[in-house]
Amino acid sequence: MRCTKAIIYTENLKNNISEIKKNLKPGVKLCCAVKANGYGNDAVNSARTAETMGAAYLAIATVSEGIELRKAGIGTDLLLLSPCCPEEFSDLLENSITPLVFDQEVISALNITASRLKKKNCPVFLAVDTGMGRIGCYPEEAAELAKKIAETENLELKGMITHFAVSDGISAENKAFTAKQFESFMTAIENVRREGIDPGIRTCAASAAGIAMPEYQLDMIRPGIILYGYYADEVTKEYLESKGIKLNLKPVMQFETEVAAIRRFSPGQSVSYGRTWKADKETDIAVLPVGYADGLLRRNSPGLKVTINGKAYPIVGRICMDQCMADIGKDNPDVKRWDKAIIFGPKEKGSIFDADDIAKMTGTISYEIMTSVSSRVKRIIQK
Ligand SMILES: *Cc1c(COP(=O)(O)O)cnc(C)c1O
Repeated sequence: MRCTKAIIYTENLKNNISEIKKNLKPGVKLCCAVKANGYGNDAVNSARTAETMGAAYLAIATVSEGIELRKAGIGTDLLLLSPCCPEEFSDLLENSITPLVFDQEVISALNITASRLKKKNCPVFLAVDTGMGRIGCYPEEAAELAKKIAETENLELKGMITHFAVSDGISAENKAFTAKQFESFMTAIENVRREGIDPGIRTCAASAAGIAMPEYQLDMIRPGIILYGYYADEVTKEYLESKGIKLNLKPVMQFETEVAAIRRFSPGQSVSYGRTWKADKETDIAVLPVGYADGLLRRNSPGLKVTINGKAYPIVGRICMDQCMADIGKDNPDVKRWDKAIIFGPKEKGSIFDADDIAKMTGTISYEIMTSVSSRVKRIIQK
């Protein structure tokens, strides 16, 4: 097996789900986001674990992600968070995936597909855009659309969903915006009820708001990033700590490789494309068989460091597609050929850097660091 791999610590995933459950108000359901291959952490393993631990829903982004889970024997309700195209409607319904709808055109088209497939009571969630500026109907259209759903022969309104734009912020302005979003969502729900229609499962909060603002949990929260061991961002973490809420989150993924060769370089000798780095003294360079095609971002050279036997070593020269090089210093007794080199992982397992550290260095978020680990990197599931 290739030494460049991602270890998935299922025990940490279980730990994180338990931590979330401790912060759920009684009766609140969990919809665990396993989209994008479980944020890179293996969708099937994440889904199975969440299912075993009582998730009511699993959230996906594409129909093919849903099909992968169904083929793996996942029976839990699947909520499709992103729009899909008409070509996918029959796969969607055949695989019992619950879509978000927010306009007459898709409601009608889905109903026709359902009728052709002889599917009755196909569940849909009505998405309301209260300020995220992505998908959804405007709050004032919700009642009318709920009526349209109720009038179809084959669709059934199973829930109502909205998504916060700044739930990860604690500034007065952001808090006020989130409160306004929540209020318009509640009004939309009220209007649906006034038509005599049951709004079903009401859900508005993802990881950040779900934990930081329990008053927004409603019937179901939709955590994603915290399942995999990270806060949405630093601000959320500080906010939670200021409120005395501490989640003992543990990163699930460890992205690692091995020292494939150690080569002596003399002063002036350069490393990699563009000759951006030259040895200023005699030193040893460790060659690592991992590159940007595996998810090491090229813009992290220079800057990136890897952990080898508990110590950090800088990547020098440009990161290549399939390889990169670390300066380990001359005759370093701590680094031997075939030793493990960790790009990021849980600190408790020996990595100096986690995905948040890499994200900070890159100017992005842990979500992007984990989903960048490409499909070429085999996921090794640890129980
Ligand atoms: C991805 C997503 C989530 C999960 O968000 P996290 O910030 O990872 O918790 C929840 N709801 C929707 C609509 C999403 O797109």
